[in-house]
Amino acid sequence: MKTKFIFITGGVLSSLGKGLAAASIGALLKARGLKVTIQKLDPYINVDPGTMNPFQHGEVYVTDDGAETDLDLGHYERYLDQPMGQINNFTSGRIYYSVITKERRGDYLGGTVQVIPHITDEIKEAIKSVAQNQEDVAIIEIGGTVGDIEGLPFLEAIRQLRRDLGKENVLYIHLTLVPYMKAAGELKTKPTQHSVKELRSIGIQADIILCRSEVDLDQDIKSKIALFCNVDPDAVFTAKDVKSIYEVPMTFYEEGLDQKIAIMLKLPAKNPNLHKWENILYRLHHPGSTVNIAIVGKYVDLRESYKSLHEALIHGGLENELEVNLRYVNSDKINGSNLRENLDGLEGILVPGGFGSRGIEGKILSIRYARINNVPFLGICLGMQCAVIEYARNVLEISNANSQEFDPDTEHPVIYLMKEWFDFRSNILQKRCEQSNKGGTMRLGAYPCVVRPDSKAGQAYKTDQVMERHRHRYEFNKKYAPDFEEKGMIFSGLSPDESLVEIVELKDHPWFLGCQFHPEFKSNPMHAPPLFREFIKAAGQAV
Ligand code: GLN
Repeated sequence: MKTKFIFITGGVLSSLGKGLAAASIGALLKARGLKVTIQKLDPYINVDPGTMNPFQHGEVYVTDDGAETDLDLGHYERYLDQPMGQINNFTSGRIYYSVITKERRGDYLGGTVQVIPHITDEIKEAIKSVAQNQEDVAIIEIGGTVGDIEGLPFLEAIRQLRRDLGKENVLYIHLTLVPYMKAAGELKTKPTQHSVKELRSIGIQADIILCRSEVDLDQDIKSKIALFCNVDPDAVFTAKDVKSIYEVPMTFYEEGLDQKIAIMLKLPAKNPNLHKWENILYRLHHPGSTVNIAIVGKYVDLRESYKSLHEALIHGGLENELEVNLRYVNSDKINGSNLRENLDGLEGILVPGGFGSRGIEGKILSIRYARINNVPFLGICLGMQCAVIEYARNVLEISNANSQEFDPDTEHPVIYLMKEWFDFRSNILQKRCEQSNKGGTMRLGAYPCVVRPDSKAGQAYKTDQVMERHRHRYEFNKKYAPDFEEKGMIFSGLSPDESLVEIVELKDHPWFLGCQFHPEFKSNPMHAPPLFREFIKAAGQAV
């Protein structure tokens, strides 16, 4: 079967959940036995999301192949339970960069380089490249909202693709908002009509309208939208607000969305096997009890910055039949006098990854609190580095221990710049970094970690070598390892050549562990990352 393409655009306003809609449709089609992939096209000019501020843009999601991508790829991986990579995310910046590089190289032989056809051709190639493995269906999510200036080349490219690939191979789904006006007690369809009209003005006629709404759309409203938007009467669906994002695939299924897609794209008519999603929902709705977990970080005002972390904690709860209640604590505001009131009554403390020195002392105070009060603790990347600094300062009594990230001239760099390591180390790592185009400064993507069996990490992983995803520059300085070990810290995860510390934990503590990598990027609702599963389990035992 030739790959069929589903293009998902959004109208009216942003944040309607296009990424989740794409992931949920993907999950339903996969449950029908189809081979599915998803790609996100981001209209902004940044070449990749790696350098974007998490305060503005939310989390940078890292894939196995070391791509720094949009957080929607996290949804795709969690819902499809299959790895994504660089090929699954393109930005306008990357498209333009590639065209400009070609132009500089003389590839266009002096011709005038234009948005149409050069940029649009580049976009079409990017879209087609995602379906190289003979996928049955490729779902392409166009970021932004119809009407945005930046998104126009993408929309033009997907308009052309219907002509290029044939009508029967392309489907346009438009996600809009149908607001409920409380005062009038009515659902309003006008914004949807306008948005579909806007799309039509650039030559795209939506096939399916997916209406985000607080309430179910009745048949009259659906018929009205169908009439005004020129779609089949049974091609208007409610994307109703739900409590948990994991309810979306089943709500779409109950609406008949996957069925309609299958009919319109002439996909093999097979009922989806939804056992997995039923199981997830059952566990979600039947927790034994609740655990309260704090995330102590500096990006707490934009929750999207901790998206994968948030989900991995929920997944950890699902595996332990626990509801996870998250408290976001701003590390910037934590000090000695308000520490207790911020962290009291919690069964677990997590310090996430991050960059820069803001909020560091608050994190270190919180880690000390977890350590001396026997509160289960999980430190991720920067969180692990802070745990090391805390231990050095308060247990090893090196009061000025620090990371070179916060004090480049520190006398005791217990965490230090990886670049220096490169001179001593096997060149495998160096090559990886060069290939990733980051000038060797950032360790990105999946790397192996050897786990000590007689440790908490070993109990969690139940295997001696794992692959986990990284995104950092600094590393534990092994020069200090003997001092730490003498005082009870265990290095329970190391790189295969033993030069890099990947996991640290404490002997005399119910559950205290820090990892240099980000297990949250490999989490899905059926399988929480082992370290999250065990962290939540320990928190559950503390209830
Ligand atoms: N800033 C730290 C480093 O670069 C940690 C990064 C992170 O937490 N992802 O090593």
